[in-house]
Amino acid sequence: MAEREIPFRDRAIETASRAEIERVQLAGLKRQIAQALKTDFYRGRLASAGISSPDDIRTLADIRKLPFTTKGDLREAYPFGLLAVPKEEVVRVHASSGTTGTPTVIYLTQRDLDVASDTMARSLAAAGGTRHDVVQNMMTYGLFTGGLCFHYGAELLGAMVIPTSSGNTLRQLKFMKDFGTTMIHATPSYLLHLHAAIEEEGYRREDLKLRMAITGAEPHSEELRQKIQDKLGIEVYNCYGMSELNGPGVAFECVFRKGMHVWEDRYIFELLNPETFEPVPEGETGELVVTILCRDAMPLIRYRTRDLTRFIPEPCPCGRTHRRIARFTGRTDDMLIINGVNVFPSQIEEVLLKAKGVGANYFIIVEKEGVLDKLTVQVEITPETFADDARVINALRDRLKSEMSALITINPIVEIKQPGSLPVSEGKAKRVDDRRPKD
Ligand code: ADP
Ligand code: ZN
Repeated sequence: MAEREIPFRDRAIETASRAEIERVQLAGLKRQIAQALKTDFYRGRLASAGISSPDDIRTLADIRKLPFTTKGDLREAYPFGLLAVPKEEVVRVHASSGTTGTPTVIYLTQRDLDVASDTMARSLAAAGGTRHDVVQNMMTYGLFTGGLCFHYGAELLGAMVIPTSSGNTLRQLKFMKDFGTTMIHATPSYLLHLHAAIEEEGYRREDLKLRMAITGAEPHSEELRQKIQDKLGIEVYNCYGMSELNGPGVAFECVFRKGMHVWEDRYIFELLNPETFEPVPEGETGELVVTILCRDAMPLIRYRTRDLTRFIPEPCPCGRTHRRIARFTGRTDDMLIINGVNVFPSQIEEVLLKAKGVGANYFIIVEKEGVLDKLTVQVEITPETFADDARVINALRDRLKSEMSALITINPIVEIKQPGSLPVSEGKAKRVDDRRPKD
């Protein structure tokens, strides 16, 4: 790697001393507290924690006095409970993938959007992206941040951005060839799918200028990265983000690809024991809890991401002082990520509870089919419905399927089961079997 120049977007801040980073963090935290105090949601909560002014925060350690914020809180505050600026200042709204029930939304001012785009551009630059790149964004455009938020960052970098969005693999390939795409953004599963299509369609490696892929949105292993790199003959960079934190680019790999740098001038990252909420010892796994330091429209304090990871204690050879996190090892809740879309078993249950003719028992199976994830929902129906004719049962299956896909935005397979045929577990019901290989 020595012969390769290490790229930076903003070398001064990316290599700042710990003291300087902490100075920026303290100023940012005070500023966010000032914003939070303007929201209906935080005012009362901060008061209960003894905080009524930004000056009540004296050192970074004071963050430990602040209340946590959860996804449930965001749903409760929907739509405008967390708004800290006059509504006219908001220029953009996004929402978490897969949530069409009560969504978790974020809103951004123009300045917020500029900062978010800059963070994304910085991430791409760290991975060696430049204005010479032709970037094809294969993540879904719309409320999901993987589309537009990534797009704006890549444009700010100066790259030529092609917003193909997800799906339509043949068109993706045609654009990759015709425009000389050098960088793509897609989920790991889609990258494998793309590779299969390249082979099937008979593209030769020299038809494509592809040199790197940015991937994220779902857990994947180092082995899978290697596999994608080998198959496509490119470098693959891991990217972490979530809509609540302005989308992708919250943590990103530099050219060394040994863990993701977290951008500590833009966020404060804590790793806490999810039961005691005490910080875990350096190098141990904990839940990532994140405070945003630069978002005027919607402050977010100590947000519980539910994602489990650890800090990598050694300094990175790239010279960046912002710490690195390792690959995620799981979550502290039951959220499933299916083809990049967040799905909670409770959303499936919600549909079943409302439906007539459905019994009490159901079972969710997630499997790999080829390179993509497959979701099957097995549903027990009532004895009366079971005794009905096949047309009634088929109609019920179709209705459940369409109601579920409307709610979770992906199409499940619904299997109707005879009453009493699904296993009944003693104690806490086990309703999900995630059969996907762990690597
Ligand atoms: P997105 O899917 O765009 O990252 P969402 O808000 O829909 O945003 O989902 C966020 C969740 O996706 C995270 O909490 C995390 O569980 C998962 N995720 C995102 N990026 C990664 C990644 N690089 N590795 C593992 N999981 C990831
Ligand atoms: Zn690095």
